[in-house]
Amino acid sequence: MNIVIIGGGASGMMAGILLGEEGHRVTLVEQNEKLGKKLYITGKGRCNFTNDCSENEFLDAVLTNPRFMYSALGVMNPQDTIALFEKWGLRTKVERGRRAFPASDKSADVLDMLKRKLKDAHVKVLLDTRCARISFDESGVNGVYIEKAARKAEREAGVHRFEEEKFAGAKETFLTAERVIVATGGISYRSTGATGDGYRFAKEAGLKVTETRPSLVPIVCADEYIRDMQGLSLKNVSLIVKSGKKILFDEQGELMFTHFGITGPLVLSASGRIGGLIGKKPLTSYIDLKPAVTEEMLDKRFLSVFAENQNRTLVNALSGIYPSGMIPVIPAAAGISPEKRVHDLTRADREALIAATKRFPLTFTSLRGFEEAVVTQGGVSVKEIDPRTMEAKRVRGLYFTGEVLDLDALTGGYNLQIAWSTAAACAKNMT
Ligand SMILES: Cc1cc2nc3c(=O)[nH]c(=O)nc-3n(C[C@H](O)[C@H](O)[C@H](O)COP(=O)(O)OP(=O)(O)OC[C@H]3O[C@@H](n4cnc5c(N)ncnc54)[C@H](O)[C@@H]3O)c2cc1C
Repeated sequence: MNIVIIGGGASGMMAGILLGEEGHRVTLVEQNEKLGKKLYITGKGRCNFTNDCSENEFLDAVLTNPRFMYSALGVMNPQDTIALFEKWGLRTKVERGRRAFPASDKSADVLDMLKRKLKDAHVKVLLDTRCARISFDESGVNGVYIEKAARKAEREAGVHRFEEEKFAGAKETFLTAERVIVATGGISYRSTGATGDGYRFAKEAGLKVTETRPSLVPIVCADEYIRDMQGLSLKNVSLIVKSGKKILFDEQGELMFTHFGITGPLVLSASGRIGGLIGKKPLTSYIDLKPAVTEEMLDKRFLSVFAENQNRTLVNALSGIYPSGMIPVIPAAAGISPEKRVHDLTRADREALIAATKRFPLTFTSLRGFEEAVVTQGGVSVKEIDPRTMEAKRVRGLYFTGEVLDLDALTGGYNLQIAWSTAAACAKNMT
């Protein structure tokens, strides 16, 4: 078959290799001047390409539409991905949290392996080429219109063009295709080529696209005292988010204060799980600074520290209990003057300090933007897609794989596994 794949990211490359190996005539269209720009920056340049977990654990880490992934995991699960990459010549390793990386710690090695396999599978790669629209007739897809950027000569002459003007004035060419795979990714990290074109293609084909929002992204907080702690990192704390009495998020880990709010692994997970509710539902959010210590134990600790520091001011007595960056903030959060002498502290003051420690309050106002988001939540509705093949149920020959779909997961290699598995299901089950 004549197959066009739109997007040379993780998912598009995987689909291209597997279909090329089956003997299909495959053309991979990528608007950037090179393949896999986003893949290259994954895992801080180390590419956490999957998570060596069981299928059930994988499904637990998928935040949106996990059940849609059942059949795709049957075609390629995390262990299959590791075995395949090893077979393709990449040495791999598994680290803490079962995160899998190339043994070299270089994402470039994953990318080089995929490029080599694309070549071996005789996939035709068109770089600096954008798909403008997909063409249909009554029986389904029949091709795509592509535009070639006047880039190469300009780049060589040192001319810089902004992304938006890259294809200005480009002439459209028609490419015939019996099957078209849209692997255009989401809309986070625009500089990697994330345009949202895939959502437009889906809408033009009459398919539903769910609302998109940034996920795995820092959270903006209104509290003034957050700015005073900018740069401070806290390990082994709990972040708790509630709606009324219902606990929506309660996990332990690492977070960091910034000039706008909070970030770090714990915060990214929270953004994925409850990000959609911020600004829409009243939420109560707080940090438990000492999750391993009960309120009674904490009270005993205060009593013993205060007994030794009777004549000091409160701020001076707190140094053994909190990291230095938090010491000026804790009395403020507890509503006690930092200059109050320890011997003047009342039981109510101690209770306020305990509350500020076990429930250090945060007021979430919004998520940071797509530019800082690791993934996009929302996308082409999975109700429109056959989970076995990734084909649109209502448009013969039109397929969607990877992040363009309404699928997303936590950090840890799961999002790339979504890209590999959906591509593999599409390639193996395509008819
Ligand atoms: C900073 C960062 C770190 C990350 N780290 C990890 C990690 O360690 N582990 C993990 O599992 N996930 C990670 N992710 C998420 C992961 O990178 C993505 O989920 C994954 O790349 C999605 O793959 P994809 O093929 O669907 O889309 P992409 O990799 O985004 O590829 C889409 C491609 O389509 C091209 N394209 C778009 N529109 C058109 C068009 N009209 N014509 C032609 N080409 C087009 C784009 O230029 C792009 O190259 C990270 C993301 C970011 C931003």
